[in-house]
Parts: sequence; structure tokens; C-alpha cells
Amino acid sequence: MGSRPLKFWGWGYEDGGPSEEGMQHLAAALASRFGLEGLEVDRAPRVEELELPAPRVPAPTALREILTDATYERARHSYGRSYRDVVRAFRRSFPHPPDWVALPRGEEDVARLLDWCSSARLAAVPFGGGSSVVGGVECAPREGYAGTISIDLARLDRVLEIDRSSRAARIQAGVLGPALEDQLRPHGLTLRHFPQSFEFSSLGGWIATRSGGHFATRYTHIDDFVESLRVVTPTGVVESRRLPGSGAGPSPDRLFIGSEGILGIITEAWMRLQDRPRYRANASVSFASFEAGVAATRALSQSGLEPANCRLLDALEARTQAGASGDATILLLAFESADHPLDAWIERAAELCQDHGGVLPEGALRTRTDAGASREGSAGAWRSAFIGAPYLRDAMVAMGVFSETFESAITWDRFEDFHAGVLAAVNDALKQVFGQGTVSCRFTHVYPDGPAPYYTMLAPACKGRELEQWQEIKRAASDAVLRLGGTITHHHAVGRDHREWYDRQRPEGFARALAGAKQALDPAGILNPGVLIDPSGT
Ligand SMILES: Cc1cc2nc3c(=O)[nH]c(=O)nc-3n(C[C@H](O)[C@H](O)[C@H](O)COP(=O)(O)OP(=O)(O)OC[C@H]3O[C@@H](n4cnc5c(N)ncnc54)[C@H](O)[C@@H]3O)c2cc1C
Repeated sequence: MGSRPLKFWGWGYEDGGPSEEGMQHLAAALASRFGLEGLEVDRAPRVEELELPAPRVPAPTALREILTDATYERARHSYGRSYRDVVRAFRRSFPHPPDWVALPRGEEDVARLLDWCSSARLAAVPFGGGSSVVGGVECAPREGYAGTISIDLARLDRVLEIDRSSRAARIQAGVLGPALEDQLRPHGLTLRHFPQSFEFSSLGGWIATRSGGHFATRYTHIDDFVESLRVVTPTGVVESRRLPGSGAGPSPDRLFIGSEGILGIITEAWMRLQDRPRYRANASVSFASFEAGVAATRALSQSGLEPANCRLLDALEARTQAGASGDATILLLAFESADHPLDAWIERAAELCQDHGGVLPEGALRTRTDAGASREGSAGAWRSAFIGAPYLRDAMVAMGVFSETFESAITWDRFEDFHAGVLAAVNDALKQVFGQGTVSCRFTHVYPDGPAPYYTMLAPACKGRELEQWQEIKRAASDAVLRLGGTITHHHAVGRDHREWYDRQRPEGFARALAGAKQALDPAGILNPGVLIDPSGT
């Protein structure tokens, strides 16, 4: 991360995000959107203003050199980066920081830290990039624990080995997205897993949360790229065998993929890589209605064409995120390949869109060998908005604007009712809580049997009451998602924020099996308590 300091309270770099002038511009635009006279921009917190409670436990001498109680580090590791997290941090509220932040240098340090936590009854919270939006890294107080240690994997940041013939690499789990790609680039290889949080999230975090990347079809989740894993648990190291596929019983990797730090700390993974793409073909297709766009997207998802990008934006989302004017629904479509030109693919995709009334710009359908195609037109506008959005969310917190997202997945046969029901519930809640507000929708990923809709909400919040207001909206949205048959999360994970709904969603027998795995690997129940499942006896 070099010497450019990161915000301890929000997204990205301290000097990132809109300029002073940009903030005023945004405030004016939002005020006009909500019909308000103006929005006052509050000043961001400074670390000197924080007074954190002293660590409740002393650091053992043997571990002292990898532990810090610096205020900045404890504050930065207190929360993830959800709207709720940013609000609390922005308001200088840090009642439960980790007692110590640990920076292990390697696997041995990780094992020693887990031994200390088990014997001293300390909660151990694995921390990758800290970009969780579901309370996954929060050091929430829990009865029966003497303190909390945030275990930050930042120093485990190297690509250790590359197997060119199998096109795979052994990679340490703490590496952040850009550093990972920098190390693979000289080999002409790439993981090509680009979540929106790519810049500040880690390989281990992606695996632990089953993160969703930029591929809208086929390789949607990190799961698809994991070849094998190495995990340090309180009862020893678990390592799976490198195999391209295996039918030998339930998959050991699948036990840890999505385990959200409750079963062990992922220290390394062999990951399946790809050659860097040379050919690209993009198109932005307009539809007169959302329904027509949905029908075209379904046809595409079932065509076997497997576009890399297939993001459908409803009219509001297209207007605010892709610079589109009017009421058109937009489908951002892209194919990429390291091996072959893509004219046949994009032409067939265009035909499928046109069957449903899709309109394409003149001359859009040709393969290009530069990366420029994804940076032009609606696709380019959407890409810039996508990358800048997290900084804007912080700016909105400073202005007292509620800006929150939630996501799900549902089969095509139920999508129409699901979408209508979710919109009704959320619009109703926004009106009740804020008096007004908007909710827009896009598909982040699509499958032959259904889409993953992603909803963005904006409303003028009441400064000082943001957390209560958030709670009411979160409950209304999550209740609707579950009642209408969706999943509580498609790729944001469960963490602490989705626990209640996850408990209702998962089969009871599976919950017992997970509890058994937890008991076997983490008998003292120290790892990330409160996430996914309660440790037995607590
Ligand atoms: C602006 C923004 C955009 C986002 N966009 C996306 C997106 O496009 N797709 C997506 O899927 N998610 C997205 N997220 C959510 C988040 O980035 C993902 O959940 C990501 O995978 C978390 O990675 P991390 O390294 O930051 O993990 P952290 O936030 O540090 O941790 C997440 C969870 O994993 C556990 N964990 C972390 N590292 C390890 C490890 N080595 N071993 C065991 N457990 C571990 C933690 O204890 C915690 O429970 C976004 C978040 C933000 C703030």
C-alpha cells in the first residue's frame, strides 16, 4: 500500500474521492434531487480526535513485535466498509475497537496467534482488506471473551509459485487485488477476478466470502478459480490436494470457501489463472422497457454464449450510473478472449437482443484488440461510476444522505414477482422512514436459471438518526428478499448483519453439520464469533 495513507473511517485513500468543489457540486445535485434547499457537508474525522478504550489484555512478550495498539490501526480495524460502518466511524463512534491488531509475518505467526487466543479466550477476527459490507470484520463485544484481536494478513502478500503448464499459481492470502495482478502480469497471466472492491480487498477475503467478480456469467464467484487451499485452524493446518476436479466425497475446499473466518485462517491458495485477454467486443444495448431487457438477458444467459459482461441496468440506474438520458433500460454486453476474435459471439448476442426490441448503436459489432472498447460510451461511463462510487458513498455520509445497496438471486420463473415485491416493500419503507427516496436495480450476474439483482437506495437521512433509519430499511429489504424466495446474499456474504436471515434460509441439518465442523476445528470457539454460527456453549 506504500506510503499513501488509507482512511481509517471510510473507503480507500485519505486523499481519494471528490475535491472540495466536487463535494459542493454533489451536495447541490443531491439537494435538488430531493427537493431540499441544501445539504451541509460535515468534516471528516481525524485520528487525533479519537479516544479509544485501553487494551483489556496485555500483549505477550513473544508476540509483541507483531502486535500494535496504535489508535489509527485499532480504529481502521474496528469496522468493515458498509454504509453503517462508515456512518459510525464518521461520527467518531468506536466503543469496541480490537484490543490489538496483529500483523503476522507468515503461517507460524498465525498459528502462534491462534494459540494465544485459544488459551487466553480472545476472539480472533481474520482481516484481509477490511472491505466487508456485512459486519464480517467487526470486533463486536461478546460475552465470555477477554478481548478481541484483529489478525490482518497484509504481510502475506506474495505469489509464491507459478505452474505455467497447468496455468495456476500458489498465492498468499493477504495479497490485495492490484498487487496480485502486478505479480502475475510479467507472466502474461491474470486471475481476472475484479470485484468493485478489487483495490482494497484480498485473495483470502474473496475466498472466505465467496466474492463475486466482474465476470457476469460462467466464472461468477471466486469459487470457480480455487484449485486448493491451505488453512491454519486452532487444531492444526488443513491443506487440500491440487486437482483439476475430483469426485472424492464432499469437497474440502467447499468447506472453507465462504467460511467467513469461523473455521480457520486461509493462508495460501492455488488459484486457476487465465491468459490475459487480447480480443474484446462490447456493445451497449437499449430497451424501451425493463421487461424487454430482462427477456433479452434471459435469452443470452441460456444461449451458451457466456458473455464476460451482461449487466442490465434499469432506467434509473442507467441514468445515474451510465450517463444515459431518458427512460431506456441499458444492457452492457462484453466478450473477451485471449485466443480468438469475437465477432460471431457479439453478432449472435445482438440478434438475441434485437429479438426482444434491443437497439444497438451503429457499427458497434466488431472485435477490438485494445482495451479502449470498455472505456467508451455507456460502458465507459458505467465503468468510471462503478470505480468512483465507493468514494461518493463516503461523501454522501458526510452530507447525511442514505446510500445503501443489497443484492440477491432468484430463478427466472419467480423474478417478476420477486422484483415487484422487493420494490414495493423498499419504496414503502423509504417513504415511511425518510419521506422519500429512490431504489434502482441492475443485474450483477446472470445464470441460465436466474439473475442476481442488485438494488441501490438513496434518500435524505436524518443526521444523528442514520443507524436507526438504516436498521428499519435493512429489515424491510431483507424480510422481502427472504419472503419472496431469494437468497439473503448472492456475493456480499453473511457476516453479522445478515445472520438473522441466513439462519432462516439455511436448512437446519446443515446448520448442525456446520456447528460440528466448527467444534472440530475451533473447539474454543475463538474464530470470528457471531458470524455464520454461534460457537457451541456460548
Ligand atoms: C465499495 C465496495 C464494493 C464491493 N464490491 C464487491 C463486489 O463487487 N463483489 C463482492 O463479492 N463483494 C464486494 N464487496 C464486499 C467485499 O469487498 C467482499 O466481501 C470481499 O471479498 C472482502 O474481502 P476483504 O479482503 O476485504 O475481506 P475482509 O473484509 O477483511 O473480510 C471479510 C470476511 O472474510 C474473513 N477473512 C478475511 N480474510 C480471511 C482469511 N485469510 N482467512 C479466513 N477468513 C478471512 C473475515 O474475517 C471476514 O469475515 C464490496 C465492498 C465494498 C466496500
